Amino acid sequence: KRKLNEHDVPEAVGDKAAKGAPAKPTFASLDLDSRLLQAINSEKFAAPTPVQAKAIPLALSGEDVLARAKTGSGKTLAYILPILHSLLKRKATESKPAKQTTALILVPTKELASQVTVTLQTFTEFCAQDVRHENISRKEDVAVTRSRLAENPDIVVATPGRATQWLNQDVLKLVELKHLVIDEADLVLNYGYEEDLQGIAAALPTGVQKIMMSATLRTEVDTLTALFPSGGAKPTILDLSA
Ligand code: ADP
Ligand code: MG
Repeated sequence: KRKLNEHDVPEAVGDKAAKGAPAKPTFASLDLDSRLLQAINSEKFAAPTPVQAKAIPLALSGEDVLARAKTGSGKTLAYILPILHSLLKRKATESKPAKQTTALILVPTKELASQVTVTLQTFTEFCAQDVRHENISRKEDVAVTRSRLAENPDIVVATPGRATQWLNQDVLKLVELKHLVIDEADLVLNYGYEEDLQGIAAALPTGVQKIMMSATLRTEVDTLTALFPSGGAKPTILDLSA
């Protein structure tokens, strides 16, 4: 009798599977870097949440994604995992990987920035030497932030206000940016950060992937797509709020 593997979990072999419905997604089926899968395993996460199962493949394919899913549905990993995967892949395959920040994660508050940083720490446990991230949303001595950014972290987590401050002082450099995330996008707009977002949008090189996450997204969708237009194709809008 052969050993059970993750494709044999009961959910995948029930009635639905028999009728040809797609098997329940697994983290292994998402084709993520093995070091990320290791971290997922050590967190004992059994399967991706619906927003993760949908957003991760889209984000890995380079598309712009705007996802609406309720609080607690796992939106943080839905953007962190594809960004880490792409980053690790570029480092492994490119002869001259970027020397500057390639991902900027914007959040409405410094509390959320700390939470995102903890998640980054957890999921880079097995690739820590390859991924440098800095949270620049805290209030701290100017010289400290300056020196942390001088070392060009791969990923920067910030509120739009702090990002703007350092961008204007030419300390945060976005010329090699590949991914821009706006987490809690509705709050970012409602907290009055639109002007900062305009400045950040103007500083982006071409071809930056935009990923936006929110628990609610209504009129904000139009504002966000106007602020951060997608090159040719429209962003994929995922609505998992039902
Ligand atoms: P959201 O941003 O949608 O409110 P979070 O990303 O903060 O949700 O995740 C909520 C909680 O769910 C966190 O404690 C996180 O560790 C946990 N979580 C995320 N993804 C999974 C998963 N696939 N399996 C189990 N727990 C998960
Ligand atoms: Mg969240």
